[in-house]
Amino acid sequence: MSVCVYIGEELAQYGFGAGHPFGPDRMGRFWVRAQALGLDRQVEICKPVLATVEEIERFHKSDYVERVQVQSRTGQGYLDYGDTPAFPGVFEAASYVVGSVLDGLQKILLEDCRSVFIPIAGLHHAARTGAAGFCVFNDCGIAIETLRAVHGIKRVAYVDIDAHHGDGVFYGFEDDPDLIFADMHEDGRYLYPGTGAVEETGKGAAKGTKLNVPMPPEADDAAFFKAWEPVEDFVRKGRPEFVLLQCGADSLAGDPITHLRYSAAAHAHAATRLCKLADECCAGRLLAMGGGGYNRTNLAEAWTSVVRSMIEAEA
Ligand SMILES: [Zn+2]
Repeated sequence: MSVCVYIGEELAQYGFGAGHPFGPDRMGRFWVRAQALGLDRQVEICKPVLATVEEIERFHKSDYVERVQVQSRTGQGYLDYGDTPAFPGVFEAASYVVGSVLDGLQKILLEDCRSVFIPIAGLHHAARTGAAGFCVFNDCGIAIETLRAVHGIKRVAYVDIDAHHGDGVFYGFEDDPDLIFADMHEDGRYLYPGTGAVEETGKGAAKGTKLNVPMPPEADDAAFFKAWEPVEDFVRKGRPEFVLLQCGADSLAGDPITHLRYSAAAHAHAATRLCKLADECCAGRLLAMGGGGYNRTNLAEAWTSVVRSMIEAEA
């Protein structure tokens, strides 16, 4: 099996209660659909893994990590200014997301598999110093720091097609010339977090290593396919040694909190093309994180499309 998918109750636990857009039912809704399509028999199913504090602190400041631990015991209050509530066990749940991503990286680098999908990961809004927008620990940022610190991989591509701008990753690596960042998102004038303008291309030595592509509200598949080509060229020119994909499903038509109108064909296209790019650049090393997506049917369609693309890329 050359595609690994992380599934388990520990991952599903990362959610903000029944009825919340980011509820604990999201992983299950994805997996039921994956089973109906027979994808579960074509991938290796991996158990969630718990990250250590040391691993989390490769990206996050220690006083913030400590604060999450404290609020995880009480389950009280917010971890940011009002979007991301604490709940009992939030520290452990967020740590399982991170640990699963790091385990996935390792599996790819040990050549146990070529590509990995982790449904409840891609928590791209969390900053080094705090939570934001349903995101407690930024597993994307921790993955990038881990590739550098542990695996000696410097040039990493991060591609993000979630409806929201990946601000936690962008500002976390804004001055880092070796993080090739490409993000297609709904224009920040219309959607949280409001960032990701075309002019934001990186700072200092990193200028030109970041590509932000704001999409107008109501942008459809045709608009996505057109905007995708320069994104792919940009990533290829960056000669990455590892590719990360945040494939948030909230960019599909019918999401309750965004205004883009893609279908799952956009996600299939991005995954297929990145598998090919990763084959050319870095022995197929691709790790995909589910990201947002609050319409359950949409997240099931988008994420299974990504997994199917990964399986087909191996065939
Ligand atoms: Zn999102």
